[in-house]
Amino acid sequence: MAKLDKWIPLILILLITFPLFGGESPTSRLLKVKLALDESYPPRDSSQKGIEEAILTASRHFEKEFDLKFTLAEVSSWQSDKGVKSFDELFIDMQRKVDRGGCHIVIGLTARRLLRGELLGGASYRSGSILIRWTSPRQDLGLLLTHELGHLFGAVHTKNRHSVMNINPDTSDFDRENAALIRLNRERRFLPHLFPISGQQLEEALHRYQRLPKMGDYKNLDADIFLIMTLMEFEGYSEVIDRCQRLLKKTPHSSSIRNLMAIALRRSGYIDRAIEEYETIIREDPLIPYVYYNLGIAYSKREDIDKAIIQYQKAIYLMPSHYQARTNLAHLYLEKRLLNEAEEQCRQALAIENDYAEGHSVLAATYLLKQQPEEAYSECQVALKLNDQLSSVYNTMAGYYIFKNQNQEAEKWCLKSLEIDPRYHKAYYNLGNIYYAMGKFPDAVKNYQEAIKLKSNYLQAHLNLGLTYYRMNQPEQAGEEFDYLLADHPDYEPAYGNLFSLYFEEKKFDEAERICRTAIDYGVNNLRFYQYLAMVLSELGKAQEAERYYQLALELDPQDSAIYLALGNLYFRYNLLENSAHNYLKALEFDDSLKDAHNNLAVVYFYQEKYELAWEHLQQAEQLGLTPHPDFVNKLKEKLKSK
Ligand SMILES: [Zn+2]
Repeated sequence: MAKLDKWIPLILILLITFPLFGGESPTSRLLKVKLALDESYPPRDSSQKGIEEAILTASRHFEKEFDLKFTLAEVSSWQSDKGVKSFDELFIDMQRKVDRGGCHIVIGLTARRLLRGELLGGASYRSGSILIRWTSPRQDLGLLLTHELGHLFGAVHTKNRHSVMNINPDTSDFDRENAALIRLNRERRFLPHLFPISGQQLEEALHRYQRLPKMGDYKNLDADIFLIMTLMEFEGYSEVIDRCQRLLKKTPHSSSIRNLMAIALRRSGYIDRAIEEYETIIREDPLIPYVYYNLGIAYSKREDIDKAIIQYQKAIYLMPSHYQARTNLAHLYLEKRLLNEAEEQCRQALAIENDYAEGHSVLAATYLLKQQPEEAYSECQVALKLNDQLSSVYNTMAGYYIFKNQNQEAEKWCLKSLEIDPRYHKAYYNLGNIYYAMGKFPDAVKNYQEAIKLKSNYLQAHLNLGLTYYRMNQPEQAGEEFDYLLADHPDYEPAYGNLFSLYFEEKKFDEAERICRTAIDYGVNNLRFYQYLAMVLSELGKAQEAERYYQLALELDPQDSAIYLALGNLYFRYNLLENSAHNYLKALEFDDSLKDAHNNLAVVYFYQEKYELAWEHLQQAEQLGLTPHPDFVNKLKEKLKSK
């Protein structure tokens, strides 16, 4: 009986999971279509019905042969640019202005005439969008749409007229070769950041595209482009460059071929040549968002951050839904420590495409720098679920554990990050920090050096390497790193701050003074370095000069309680009790919780024989967690008693 009891629920589950009657055929894949009508569509002698019927017709063809169905899920409109002169320009215009929303495929409709060339339709395989040009009520929109949808599933033109992939087809059927390509693409993805197919399908597609040129019917430009796009996925960059160069001799104005060539150049390390190619495209077609996006990547690779930022901003201006450009821009904002701007761009990118692992990765890194470790942690988890091969996410996880002072856990994550990308400089840098914190200085040195090998102007790594040498009692090597920073990058603020702390702590006041004066000369955070300089001068016994720098700092921020406190201490040292008390009170005016200010004020009042006031402030200091000197407490108590 017990056994039977266990069986019953299992059968129920099976019944629920596989309904026996009705429902969709379990194998057909349903794809949502968004229609985007420009201002010229529908024209007077037509209606929206025409295209809706065409979608049904195409869907029927695809269902019969490939078990693929298309359903109209959304209709929107867009205003086309009056200035566009060709079909291609209009197609780009549509892709810029219409986002996919929750749909897989966007089908744009136009009835505009007088466009250069006679194209009736176009399809973009990667972005999953189509543009159809309506010409007359007699036009067979169903046939045209079937042809363009074929392109979205990897089909190419053929000279065979008995195939819908012919330019003037006499049938709505696909030829055998194209039918096989569509089957390979049947499960294709519609996410612009991922190539539509991968794995086994991609390998077979490459094999087929490589064979096409040997078959006379398929000698044409779009077969070449499909081959190039696929080769790119296999990192066959030199062949891509070669093929693109040959094609550009025949069609020098093809922006898509030049763009593919530029990407291959960039990925092969020819950054400057890639930039030239992108600029050539921009001179001819200044409105293609993905060219600016790619140019942004090229400038980034060249460490030209400001130029890269401008390119990404242009891409976003042209195409607000370009979430990859937004994410890359966020990443650069992060490098420049513009944390709020970075967070904002990430949020916008993820609002457009929440399944973009890179977007979650950059947001996680932003949170970490904003000192919100828990948010960083959860974004990392989301990113890892979407893509477990992003070295940056593992490195951010390491950062999270560094933040939590769990260095051994952090070390593990760094090592994972380097396992995925052994050339990831930031992971070496973090490892360096971890070993520094563990006191394993030679290991820290090794990792900082590795980071610098991969990125020579990695300023934080140079700084920390210098600090590590210093801790290892190797002042000469330390000096080399510091000199490099101060001479070649005099506006790198962390160098001054860290060096000041180091020298001040070691009581090397002359060195500390030199650092402050250099920082001030370069205008690096004057408020802070006026204050630091005053601290050093006071240690060196140059009281008047110290006073002057404190006053300069207060001119920059008249509400900085720490400076009033320091100034109070300076006056106290020279027994100027009135001035001292005045500044302690000022400090407390802006920050009542400064326990040192309360304590020191109590001491001043004691010398001024204002014992009641002294007692009051001493009590407050104690309440704030300060333990006053027991001798002082006793003396004050005596005075209060004898009064
Ligand atoms: Zn075509």
